[in-house]
Amino acid sequence: MLTMRNRGVTGFEVLADDVPALCWPTGRRDLFSNSGEYVARTRVNPEYGRPGWTRDCGKRFHRGVDIAPIRVRSAGRTVTVLFSDCQTGHEFPSVEEAWVPEDEVFAVLPGRVVEWNGVESKSDFGLYVVLEHASQNMFTLYGHLASVGVEEGADVSAGMRLGGMGQTSRSADARNWMAIAPHLHFEVVTGSGNAYDPLEFLQRGLPR
Ligand SMILES: [Zn+2]
Repeated sequence: MLTMRNRGVTGFEVLADDVPALCWPTGRRDLFSNSGEYVARTRVNPEYGRPGWTRDCGKRFHRGVDIAPIRVRSAGRTVTVLFSDCQTGHEFPSVEEAWVPEDEVFAVLPGRVVEWNGVESKSDFGLYVVLEHASQNMFTLYGHLASVGVEEGADVSAGMRLGGMGQTSRSADARNWMAIAPHLHFEVVTGSGNAYDPLEFLQRGLPR
């Protein structure tokens, strides 16, 4: 499986100069005008959704970019998460509002559905879709979906709806973090199973 192959990624490959023209992966369009809000953040960690060494005070590598929704509703509950004070190394519990994203998720390039999961308990990515973009020799992954609207093997065009943004994962801890910082986890994987910086990929391929 693709998600198994790229498990050990700890750095990004250099993107080629000719990043293809992309479609927006969600309804959110403010990457260039409001980049601080485009990427999901928590109250304590504004870097939360960014790619790279942004998790666990820089100790855990994040292969994806977490794109914040433009439409959310209150879940009508709170969750308790354990924030880290990276200056002191101390962890402290905090009660936070829970949110449910309502955005839809779209293919950034034409491709084929080569991997598909519709069972939340099977993956840390919960419900997800992987597209293969053969002419670019790369894959894109859309994780933590609420619903999947395409089938394995299907050919999709750029901008086609893949499903609804959600907060699914087999990890209860991950579900808690997604409740306070809902997002689409978007990843760009090379043909050999490494990864490109997904935020740089979007910044270079999306229309300004
Ligand atoms: Zn992520």
